Amino acid sequence: MVSLPNTQETKDLIQKLVNIPSPSGFTGKVIQFVEDYLKELQVETKRNRKGGLIATLPGENTSEHRMLTAHVDTLGAMVKEIKDNGRLRLDLIGGFTYHSIEGEYCKIHTTSGKEFTGTILMHQTSVHVYKDANKAERNQENMEVRIDEKVENAEDIRALGIEVGDFVSFDPRVEETENGFIKSRHLDDKASVAILLQLIKRIKTENITLPYTTHFLISNNEEIGYGGNSNITPETVEYLAVDMGAMGDGQSTDEYTVSICVKDASGPYHYGLRKHLVDLANKNDVEYKLDIYPYYGSDASAAIRAGHDIIHGLIGPGIDSSHAFERTHETSLENTEKLLYYYVQAEMVK
Ligand SMILES: [Zn+2]
Repeated sequence: MVSLPNTQETKDLIQKLVNIPSPSGFTGKVIQFVEDYLKELQVETKRNRKGGLIATLPGENTSEHRMLTAHVDTLGAMVKEIKDNGRLRLDLIGGFTYHSIEGEYCKIHTTSGKEFTGTILMHQTSVHVYKDANKAERNQENMEVRIDEKVENAEDIRALGIEVGDFVSFDPRVEETENGFIKSRHLDDKASVAILLQLIKRIKTENITLPYTTHFLISNNEEIGYGGNSNITPETVEYLAVDMGAMGDGQSTDEYTVSICVKDASGPYHYGLRKHLVDLANKNDVEYKLDIYPYYGSDASAAIRAGHDIIHGLIGPGIDSSHAFERTHETSLENTEKLLYYYVQAEMVK
């Protein structure tokens, strides 16, 4: 008998993951968390030089491998400039707009390990002072961090130990609703990381022997384009990225099904693998949507670009308002979990 995924456990894990700050380039703590989680399951892991984590489950066939990946790095920022007015100018990490972080609480992580809290604001926020508060452009020039400390100038800030190059993380704002929604800034792609970790746990607890040796790469540089493009064994035939499905006008992806990506900005995903995933979904009552993501690339397309001769695919939960105030529903997590569960136990596409 096949057990159903424990989606509440997945949501609990998402909560833990999004609460660990991890903008691309600053992922040490979150990788440590994932490493500890896998160690508890007695899964062997190793780190690559970039700081990502690879877990390997040996399968019956050891000469042909499979790889699945999801990324733990998120959007974030870095201190660009210590301003004379006692505020910080930011430089963004990853692709998003300043609009989506206006008013957001943030943390500044100094190199000595201290943390300071702050708020990302328009310089011209106060309507009692600035006539053009609503019209001024939301950009690097006009937006700044107000630190929750008594600081009036650059010298005061430097005295706290804050310097150019310090990482800045955004409040994850995670919340679950009683009717099954989960909201957070960083569902991309920590929802998928939680799904992969749960999948590994299920394979271990149900004592499943996989047909092929299967690697799970928890990538830590996807938002900047090169997380999952390395550490792919020469035996790897299929490479599946698990990353968010993009929603919006004209998209078929929703918050309730698993999204199977047929094409994104990098071009079509492998036709055979896509058809195989659809077959698996149909056979096992997994609800899915096929979709094209217009402005999107994944770790699977990054691996292809890096020159790996692999069969590549992309699936994931549908995430509304990506790279901003993200939301999905537990049924989307569940459908993604189910499809992956059948996928890792199926024959390969050849
Ligand atoms: Zn992503």
